[in-house]
Amino acid sequence: MNKLNVKSGDKVIVLTGKDKGKTGKILSVNPEKGNVKVEGVNIVTKHVKPRNANQPGGIMKEPGNIDVSNVMIVCPACGKQTRVAHKIDENGNKSRVCKKCGASLDATKSTDKKAKKSDSAVEEKPKKTAKKAAKA
Ligand SMILES: [Zn+2]
Repeated sequence: MNKLNVKSGDKVIVLTGKDKGKTGKILSVNPEKGNVKVEGVNIVTKHVKPRNANQPGGIMKEPGNIDVSNVMIVCPACGKQTRVAHKIDENGNKSRVCKKCGASLDATKSTDKKAKKSDSAVEEKPKKTAKKAAKA
């Protein structure tokens, strides 16, 4: 299960590291390595050797890879950082939805059916309930 819940074009927030709190669009996704490149995040400096007159070389700055677990998707509808839930519609199309508000995270081909189903997509994590050692 190495499937990523993010796609290029998604808006994400950085959770850790020097760019913590920054938001940006995902520029590229590498599912094999489980990392992404995010606009303006984890900028790395590359020294480029001159190749020819058109490419004089020098120092280039570009986003470097960050682990996908270090980012969280930001819902375009409610603006909150959220986990991704999956929904399968009546046509069998799988889409990604915001776990907080249920809005679709896939902007493409939204079938204007905004049927709000009450939190059906939310998976609850089993809470670890501390055992009460109530020995009276
Ligand atoms: Zn939302």
